[in-house]
Amino acid sequence: MPSVPGASQEEIRRQNLGAVLRYVHLHGPTSRAELTSRLGLNRSTIGALAADLVASGLVTEEAPTTARRAGRPSLVVSPRSDRVYAQALSIDADRLRAARVGLGGRILDLREVARPVGMSAVDAVGPLADLVRDMERCVAADALLVGGAVAVTDTTRDADDRIRIVGIDGTLGAALEAELSAGPGFVAGDLADIAGLAEHVRGVAAGVDDLIYLHGGLGISAGIIVGGRLMIGHRGHSGKVGHMVVNPNGLPCGCGSRGCWETEIGENALLRHAGRDPGDRAAVAEVLRAAADGDRTAREAVERVADWLGFGVANLVNVVNPDAVVFGGSLRDIFTAGADTVRSRLGAMPLPVSREHLRLEAAALGPDAVLIGAAELAFDKLLADPLNVGVAGHVGPVDPA
Ligand SMILES: [Zn+2]
Repeated sequence: MPSVPGASQEEIRRQNLGAVLRYVHLHGPTSRAELTSRLGLNRSTIGALAADLVASGLVTEEAPTTARRAGRPSLVVSPRSDRVYAQALSIDADRLRAARVGLGGRILDLREVARPVGMSAVDAVGPLADLVRDMERCVAADALLVGGAVAVTDTTRDADDRIRIVGIDGTLGAALEAELSAGPGFVAGDLADIAGLAEHVRGVAAGVDDLIYLHGGLGISAGIIVGGRLMIGHRGHSGKVGHMVVNPNGLPCGCGSRGCWETEIGENALLRHAGRDPGDRAAVAEVLRAAADGDRTAREAVERVADWLGFGVANLVNVVNPDAVVFGGSLRDIFTAGADTVRSRLGAMPLPVSREHLRLEAAALGPDAVLIGAAELAFDKLLADPLNVGVAGHVGPVDPA
């Protein structure tokens, strides 16, 4: 057993290794000199930490390619994105995706198949595992898999268009582990939470610790980050903002209530107002294009939905008091098309203390946000204790048998 002072020094070293690795993971190749100033550690400490990370195969160190004026150049520390990776999976409303995401947040490989209507999240485990096995066949022998995560949209619709909530705690990750019978394990999380996390870590809200990420898909849900931490609620089902009642005289909702926010701002609301068939997801883009081209019916449909969008955001902003609201999924384009209407509704409603500092942003990472966010969850253990995960992680391709 190590003595207490020894253990504490080891703990500090572990934290510092994590800090260096996290910095290059988020910011890309960084010189030792910059790491020294950014992390507030001295030069020799940074040199020793970088050497340890190089020895464990997590980063490389090279002389900078650009010429400097004088003196010895500071070595540049880069994450080994091609070697160190996480498995990032998503169970979306209508498709299943699996990606290998390298350290540094780069998508190295991506596979997808359609998710048939009515397929439960647990039934999706088999097809997802097939995608993972297919991908792993192409992995180099010295690659290092450090973890996996699966993002799942926890609301699905049954054949009668009623809303069902599927479990995202424990069971799904365990089912994937059992199916793949290798690797360092899977964590599972809500799709909107994970996409919001990605925008918080690498996207349009990087560095913003209080934010609401609104995701439009078949329904509307939110990833809410407060003080830099995801608010997940009991068993991960927080953020069901689509079922916030905004119009008691509105339409019935699949959840059994009436006038829920998603009946006013969802894809189907836009299609309905534009005289299109609800459920025709491909037509959403057509309506937005027609509105941009000046079609009057389409323009009025966008404005009506944008007004309700602003109405709900105003309420959320008064409750959470975020620095930013980010619109993702299909809400991204709806927000972009109707931003003036959203802003004007918002300007008329919330308290000045809630809105004076508020930024409204379209999501930056697009459909990849979910996979990038899932990889961030999977990288957590590595970044907390870089050398240990390197040892415990599964090295090389997953056995396809
Ligand atoms: Zn509802």
